[in-house]
Amino acid sequence: MFCEDRFDRVTAVVSSLSIYLVTRQCGDPTMYENYWQRMGERTTVVISGWQSMSYFSDVKNPCWFLEPEFAKQVVRLHNVVGNAVTNGRQIVVGTGSSQLFLAALYALAPKDGSEPMSVVSAAPYYSVTSLLTNKSRWLLMVSLQSYPSMTDCLKSGLYKWAGDARRFSKEGPYIELVTSPNNPDGFVRHSMVNRTGGILVHDLAYYWPQYTPISSPADHDLTLFTVSKATGHAGTRIGWALVKDPEVAKKMIKFIELNTIGVSRDSQLRAAKILEVMTNTSENVGRIGSYESFFWISYHLMAERWQLLRAAVNRSRVFSLPDFTPGFCHFLNQDSQPQPAFAWLKCEDDRVEDCESFLRGYKMLTRGGRHFGVGPKYVRISMVDRDNNFNLFVKRLSVIQS
Ligand code: PMP
Repeated sequence: MFCEDRFDRVTAVVSSLSIYLVTRQCGDPTMYENYWQRMGERTTVVISGWQSMSYFSDVKNPCWFLEPEFAKQVVRLHNVVGNAVTNGRQIVVGTGSSQLFLAALYALAPKDGSEPMSVVSAAPYYSVTSLLTNKSRWLLMVSLQSYPSMTDCLKSGLYKWAGDARRFSKEGPYIELVTSPNNPDGFVRHSMVNRTGGILVHDLAYYWPQYTPISSPADHDLTLFTVSKATGHAGTRIGWALVKDPEVAKKMIKFIELNTIGVSRDSQLRAAKILEVMTNTSENVGRIGSYESFFWISYHLMAERWQLLRAAVNRSRVFSLPDFTPGFCHFLNQDSQPQPAFAWLKCEDDRVEDCESFLRGYKMLTRGGRHFGVGPKYVRISMVDRDNNFNLFVKRLSVIQS
């Protein structure tokens, strides 16, 4: 929501007092700024005062607020990356995938159910920074989205958060959110509820080559993507859903009509340009490599960061990180390592019960496991922060010895 602005102000105040290092734990993907700076004018979009004035983008499309150019670039990008089937899908654009998540719940929950439909996801599940102040009431972190708080914020009569999918045993229909690779732990995921009859929503915000091998095109009923994690343009607030059932798509569109009467056309045009440049520079990556390709460059940057972090963790012997199995990436045309946007760090020292407080003592703010539905031995670290913050974080982590 207002993560970046406030954090900048807060970071300035707090770091000038040398109290804490605020590592922007909301996963703000500012790491990618350097790449887009190097692309210079290639992604500049000029929108004159008289353009995109109407509410309507394309009256022939059931999603009448979807910019045709944005839809075209979404399809091109998925075809080049090979991470999702777009044929036979309605594209629904949203103000971030956050809006689409709520639209999906609205569309999938029956309107005449005797009770709200249960919504579950396997722990640890997606959750972002909450309000945190220090003793002087300086604001250090602000509350953003999470599956539980988004599901329950309006106390809807249609759906209700029902917790960890692995423990869910209630009879009746349910909606399961499958985030793959998962935020916060980075593992590839499938449905976890041990029975059929559920409706699945796949949140594939991180199913891009810099984070995980692209094994095959995702072919689900309802899949969510966002430019926030694909390109790093979180502030553009654009996400998209690929929806198989036209009736479900219609209800999602209805939700967005009721909610915001469409989605910023200016933002869609900007996002379209960025996706276009991304696709143009990535078309032949698998065959010839490309030192211009966003994915190629980001993949190597992430690899470097994970190496630095693993080296610091190995030196300290206090922490551990998940081990991932490499896989063949059809986009990069090589075996590639999973290297998630978040590191899910575990404190292995028996004397430390709460890893988040422990790290705070070393001037590092992280996000503790309890926020994600698991224990306090875990914390989540953003791997997509700016270089300075990331390097400082690794440096501070390296000095902690068992
Ligand atoms: N899903 C997941 C798994 C995320 O991590 C995030 C962002 N933190 C979102 C959705 C939200 O994306 P957007 O910025 O498009 O609302």
